Amino acid sequence: MIAPMHHFLSADRSALARNRQHARVSVVMPVYNEAAILQQLTDAVRTVLKDCCADFEIVYVNDGSSDDSRELLDQLAATDDRIIVIHLARNFGHQAAVHAGLEHASGDAVVLMDSDLQDDPAAIPQFLAEWENGFDVVYAQRFNRKESLPKRVLFHTFYRVLNSIAGSPMPTDAGNFSLMDRAVVDALLQLPECERYLPGLRSWIGFQQTGVKVERMARHDDQPRVSLAGLFKLAKTAIFSFSSFPLTLFYIIAGVSGLVCLSSISFVLYHKAFSGLAIPGWTSTIITASFFGALNALGISVLGEYVIRIYDQVRARPIYLTKSKRNHIQQSTMTSQ
Ligand code: UDP
Ligand code: MG
Repeated sequence: MIAPMHHFLSADRSALARNRQHARVSVVMPVYNEAAILQQLTDAVRTVLKDCCADFEIVYVNDGSSDDSRELLDQLAATDDRIIVIHLARNFGHQAAVHAGLEHASGDAVVLMDSDLQDDPAAIPQFLAEWENGFDVVYAQRFNRKESLPKRVLFHTFYRVLNSIAGSPMPTDAGNFSLMDRAVVDALLQLPECERYLPGLRSWIGFQQTGVKVERMARHDDQPRVSLAGLFKLAKTAIFSFSSFPLTLFYIIAGVSGLVCLSSISFVLYHKAFSGLAIPGWTSTIITASFFGALNALGISVLGEYVIRIYDQVRARPIYLTKSKRNHIQQSTMTSQ
């Protein structure tokens, strides 16, 4: 694996690189079946970028869309060479598409956002202002989410649980929408994880980070491309990749149930010794046995989650594969066409 050229340049970048009048800004967006919104999205992002920075590129990653996104993206790239399009070989999933976009972005600052207009491009100038103030990561802290109540409760709980059990601090209510300095993007690309949870990796990296409150807009249609099962899988990735608490929990459970067992045995022996009565209890025996059987199975499943991750990592398959590209000038040899 050969590192991209800018790995070696980032350390001695001039102060001008942090000035939007001189810097290049990349906006990376994963796309999965978003044909209906692509023109409007491109116009909105381009208008914001034209007004706020001198040089920019928009990097679309088509994550194996089955609608007209592919043709539309190619048309957009044909009319504007600042629009770079990466077509993945199949649908690799949101996080893999984000990773592909980061690998193909060349900006001094890279903005990451969804392509469904839930992330408001109007926040980009605010991100850039904080970047110029010296922050390396500026993430959106979402408020006023428009999803259903159960989904909002789940998101709220997830961020707080993760924050309390993760080995490194995780900002709450911060998803992918963010700006990262080139040095941060290079550092992220060096992390070898196959199963990626970008908000976690981004905060694990450190550097100077700050949050900006950004309203989460409604989706342009009512059909999220990441299913509930997909969100659940992502939550599992976040928890098992950033915390060993699930394993610790089993030490605690084993300790507590051991104590309960010991005291029950003492209780039974005490009765047998002093009253000569054995305590009848076929039902309680069965319940206790099945309870501990279930507990063992759960413990093994938790262990399995870590084993799956080790297995994925050892197989070391690439995070994504590309089929073709538009307007992209090869800078790195990390992934092949
Ligand atoms: N997306 C993707 N690949 C997928 C699923 C989604 O690239 O397999 C893109 C999608 O087009 C959107 C972003 O990822 O731009 C977030 O997807 P979605 O809106 O479904 O997620 P949510 O906002 O509900 O978290
Ligand atoms: Mg969305």
